[in-house]
Amino acid sequence: MQVILHVKLAALQVKGIRMISNEASRIWLFDYDLTLYGEDERFVLDSLDKRIALFVQKTLNVDLEEAQKVRKEYWAKYGTTLAGLQALHGVQPNDFFDFIHIPDTLILPQCAPRKREILLGLRGKRYVFTNARRDWSDAGLANMGISDCFDGVMDLLSMHWEGKPSGKAYLHMEHFLEAEGVFKKGEDPSRIILLEDSIANLAGAHHRGWTTILVNAVIQEVPRWVNYHITDITKLMETVDAV
Ligand SMILES: [Mg+2]
Repeated sequence: MQVILHVKLAALQVKGIRMISNEASRIWLFDYDLTLYGEDERFVLDSLDKRIALFVQKTLNVDLEEAQKVRKEYWAKYGTTLAGLQALHGVQPNDFFDFIHIPDTLILPQCAPRKREILLGLRGKRYVFTNARRDWSDAGLANMGISDCFDGVMDLLSMHWEGKPSGKAYLHMEHFLEAEGVFKKGEDPSRIILLEDSIANLAGAHHRGWTTILVNAVIQEVPRWVNYHITDITKLMETVDAV
């Protein structure tokens, strides 16, 4: 009941404010995990998560229970499992990703023609902005049939392993957009629109003056500064004015 009520409130919140105009000047940034594919395909992330747990077991020589406990500590203190492994055990990010990105052990999101239609309907530039290494997101985008809907990918490697919500990640993104010739320093940053399932990651974007769209079906408390809230990416056009 609480969830249904929340979704209704979110819809009102969206209706109460200006829609995003679908203009060529827009720069759309999409997080990958749990944003371009949603909660209904959480098993995709779970398949990766199993490999991460295994990596922690192997690296620290602990059982699964202990590995999960350690990971929770790393999340709380360092933001991600990898960040904790880097800080405390000198793990090289590429070794971590080489281990977890074993295609045979992973599940990818389903082919998504509706998402493709929505993405191609957005005017302006579209980029993926992910805390993963891009071989993971590239495989998923290919399986969904949406690889060609994007102008580029900013991944964790491109961010020198300092991902969202580190302030450096958003600065990297802005510098990348400047290098792409689609954004100039000092321009109105609100034309950069970040779609994310994580409020912490949206906060960094909000701090830069970007427009924020929370894509999340389960979150109960949405901060007031979040500009738009949709339950999944197929609802995106509820926030965008058709041209
Ligand atoms: Mg995500």
